[in-house]
Amino acid sequence: MRIPTHILDEIVAHSREEAPNECCGLLGGREGAATTLYRARNEFESPLRYNVHPQDLLRITNELDEAGEELVGIYHSHTRSEAYPSQTDVNLAENWPDPLYLICSLVDADTPVLRAFAISDGAVSEVILESGD
Ligand SMILES: [Zn+2]
Repeated sequence: MRIPTHILDEIVAHSREEAPNECCGLLGGREGAATTLYRARNEFESPLRYNVHPQDLLRITNELDEAGEELVGIYHSHTRSEAYPSQTDVNLAENWPDPLYLICSLVDADTPVLRAFAISDGAVSEVILESGD
């Protein structure tokens, strides 16, 4: 998936702002490319798990519709673990198999790691991110 550099930077910035809690948000765009980042609140305000706050989900879904965009990605941060989906993340993705899942790890605060995964039927596969505008 193609993601503009400024969106990748924004995911890292959001992750740092919310640390030690996990942050989350949605990416709108078209097939194969993200164009807009929508920040959301983590309903759980937790360092261990996330859920896109239902009010934000409703608001962002409307904004996606108005912009003529599709939901192409869901991002969240891991502040204490590597950039790989936890079992909780895999379970959460069952309800929503289509978007890519981006995870930003801040385990090494100086070197954030951002990776993307497709998660469907409990199977995780990494997707290569192409940055650039
Ligand atoms: Zn996670």
